[in-house]
Amino acid sequence: MTLSSRPALFLDRDGVINIDHAYVSKPEHFEFVDGIFELCRTAKRLGYLVFVVTNQAGIGRGYYTEQDFLNLTEWMCGVFNAQGVVIDRVYFCPSHPEYGIGKYKVDSPFRKPGPGMILQAAEEFDVDLARSVVVGDKETDIQAGIAAGVKCNLLYFPSYPEEPIETAASAVVSRLADVSKFLESVHNQ
Ligand SMILES: [Mg+2]
Repeated sequence: MTLSSRPALFLDRDGVINIDHAYVSKPEHFEFVDGIFELCRTAKRLGYLVFVVTNQAGIGRGYYTEQDFLNLTEWMCGVFNAQGVVIDRVYFCPSHPEYGIGKYKVDSPFRKPGPGMILQAAEEFDVDLARSVVVGDKETDIQAGIAAGVKCNLLYFPSYPEEPIETAASAVVSRLADVSKFLESVHNQ
């Protein structure tokens, strides 16, 4: 970390950027979550880098190829661009320790709950992790953030508070608009 280090917003993909329909690999199945563009615009305006950190064991399992994933990513980033948001980088981990086929059957520190993807982004972009924010819809996202040294790890859980949830997250949010508000409040402190 240096004096010019910047905070980052680390977004999980399935369940945060798009509705988790399980192993989404095509644009026609990619349904953006309400508030995601506004959240990213807010983050960018406040000086955050924006990264996607996503486990993609569907590649390792042979459900779709790495090229399918990259094509979908290019399309997704194009939609963000059209919405005024440049995603700084998309990190993904294709492996699965049990169900991966061939070279994909490895227990990778990059697969969440491992912190590998977040730490790689921090190194490549000089990210201030202590001032960064993770948004995930699973406890493994939160664990990855904590393991990487991110202080603010938010669990996006749309059925909260009607459905209680036990989590190590800093807070639970039921709408992405609440994350936007949170970033604003931190900025105005
Ligand atoms: Mg998810």
